Amino acid sequence: MDKSSPKSLSTPINLDEHSVIIERVIAAASQEEDSYLEDPKVGLRPHSFESYLGQNQVKENLKIYVTSAQMRKSQLDHVILHGPPGLGKTTLARIIAHELKVNLHETRGPALDRPGDLAGILTHLAPGDVLFIDEIHRLSIKIEEMLYSAMDEFQLDIILGQGPAARAMRMPIAPFTLVGATTRLALLSKPLLDRFGIPERLDYYDHGSLMEILRTNARTLNIKISDQGLKSVAQRSRGTPRIANRLLKRVWDFAIGLGCGEVSDVLAHDVLLRQGIDGEGLDRTDRQILNAIRYQYHGGPVGIEAIAAALNEDRSTLEEVYEPYLVHMGYLSRGPRGRTLTLKGQTHLDAYGARPESQLTTP
Ligand code: ADP
Repeated sequence: MDKSSPKSLSTPINLDEHSVIIERVIAAASQEEDSYLEDPKVGLRPHSFESYLGQNQVKENLKIYVTSAQMRKSQLDHVILHGPPGLGKTTLARIIAHELKVNLHETRGPALDRPGDLAGILTHLAPGDVLFIDEIHRLSIKIEEMLYSAMDEFQLDIILGQGPAARAMRMPIAPFTLVGATTRLALLSKPLLDRFGIPERLDYYDHGSLMEILRTNARTLNIKISDQGLKSVAQRSRGTPRIANRLLKRVWDFAIGLGCGEVSDVLAHDVLLRQGIDGEGLDRTDRQILNAIRYQYHGGPVGIEAIAAALNEDRSTLEEVYEPYLVHMGYLSRGPRGRTLTLKGQTHLDAYGARPESQLTTP
């Protein structure tokens, strides 16, 4: 640990009491406070394969595909990027377009409401352009079916008019590359999934890659932080660059507020603990999930619906945001009969988690 201790953070900390101050500091989905960090003027988002740190296998594969498309003088095959939020899918889609030196058109599954929305985008593509659809698992079936002929044959099938007078029309569009991103690959229909020639899975970043990202970004943001401080932040970032950036900014804001010239690991540790984030990056909701399984369901197995009811949380939030990291860390196992608390999960709770029955709604 660094020797310098923070000035006024010496009172004892009750993790689950303090964590209510800030809701989901470690949520991987983009939040209001990320808009500053993700602002192009701030310059944290990498623009090239070279500056995109970690995910080496995915990066290598994509580089080869991009080079091959350039040598063939043809559009890149369609790409599907999948993995938990905040790992760099949008960043990669932008890099692909940048490296191919083509235009990027960005949209989101839920924003493509009417066939006209998609037709409007597809008819404005130039040859080789990249169309990025984030949250592609949330496309309506009507829009998805329109994509089939667009992806296969670069043809747009549209229906003109309504009722008995309606007639089908086909029009050619420029050959393009669809890059889809999803946090829930299992929700994609097989016909859509089969149309992506390049599937790439992004996984949680290892400690070394996160350290590299944090060090680079601390330099860009002119943040003074010791090496141990960086380690402390990296360890609590759930293997996710978006969270790492957010925590880095948080500890620096506290350091400025307390008049510390540098973030030490003691300061980082205390600030994050006060926000309910424990040594492994778990927050109050994570611990409540583990505690619910342990005390209300005797360690499991228990279905996700029961856990959602016990915590008064949305099932899809549990599945998309919390569970993947708990499973990745080995605190929770997922089987055909439900979720089970592992020995590692129990040990973690013994170190950090208070018995939470009073805070839980009885299912
Ligand atoms: P996703 O689309 O998977 O939710 P993003 O691409 O929006 O994630 O990335 C979130 C933030 O994390 C970006 O603003 C970027 O600054 C940072 N980031 C993501 N991947 C990397 C990386 N490999 N190297 C450096 N920073 C990254």
